[in-house]
Amino acid sequence: MQSCVHWLRSNLSNLPDISDEELNAAGETPSEDIYERLDKVTSLVVHHSATATGNARVFRALHRAVNGWDDIGYHFVIGNGTLSADGEIEPGRPVWAVGAHAREHNSDSIGICLVGNFCQTSPTRKQMASLMDLLTELMEDFSLTRSEILLHRDVPGCRTECPGDNLTVKEIIDALF
Ligand SMILES: [Zn+2]
Repeated sequence: MQSCVHWLRSNLSNLPDISDEELNAAGETPSEDIYERLDKVTSLVVHHSATATGNARVFRALHRAVNGWDDIGYHFVIGNGTLSADGEIEPGRPVWAVGAHAREHNSDSIGICLVGNFCQTSPTRKQMASLMDLLTELMEDFSLTRSEILLHRDVPGCRTECPGDNLTVKEIIDALF
C-alpha cells in the first residue's frame, strides 16, 4: 500500500513544513478522550473526497497535519479500490463523536465520505452498494427517515459542490427503496 506520506506529498501543493515522521503519525487514530459527544443525530451527510484516490488513513493525516483538526472529519470512508478495497467501509471518528464535515451541523450529524471526485467521475457500483448498507444501518440505529439523508451541498448554510453532480439524492433514495 502507498504510504500516506507519499500520498500527501504527491497530492498536495500546500503542505506545511512538516516532517515525514509527523505526517505518518498524523495518520494514526487518536485516543478516544479527544472527542466531544454528539447530543443527537438528526441527519446523515454524504460527501465525496474530491480526490481520485484515498482511504481513511490519508484523509486522517490530511485533516490532522494540514487542517490542524483533532481527527479525520468524517465518521466513515467508503473506498474506491485505490488505497482501500472497492466498497470497503473504513471507520473514521466513532459514531458517537462530533465530526468535522458540515459547517454548523457537526453537532448533530454523521459524515460519510466516498473516495472519488464526483464532479468528474461517478461512484463505483460497490461504493453505492456499501453506501446503501451503511445508510440503512444508520437510519435504523438513529431512527432516521430517508428525508434525513443529505448531500453536503444540501445542508443548510453549506456552500459547496460536494459530492459533485454525479451523485444525487434521487439516486441514493431510489437505490435505498
Ligand atoms: Zn463534503
